[in-house]
Amino acid sequence: MSGGDIHPDGIPIGTGLQYWQTQFLSFHCLNRDCGRWVDMGLRRAVRLAGDPAVRVRAFGRRLRCAGCGHRGAHPMLSADCRSEHAREREGLLKVCLEE
Ligand SMILES: [Zn+2]
Repeated sequence: MSGGDIHPDGIPIGTGLQYWQTQFLSFHCLNRDCGRWVDMGLRRAVRLAGDPAVRVRAFGRRLRCAGCGHRGAHPMLSADCRSEHAREREGLLKVCLEE
């Protein structure tokens, strides 16, 4: 991907869906006085977005903060950084299992 391919609303929310076991999204409330964030499993995010083609920033703008009521959150891609061995021993992260 070159820089010219970057869409202002980011990637389609379904882009990394095949990595749902080790990646998830984190949404940070855009109200600076709040600072709340919420983690969301990729499968749940695609379901809530209603379409895997919805772009992550567009989806973030639709979210309402459960803490302060502000509408709009900044998306970030997060990853389970544990080793494969640790994942096998401890299981997948709860957030990744969300549907
Ligand atoms: Zn908030």
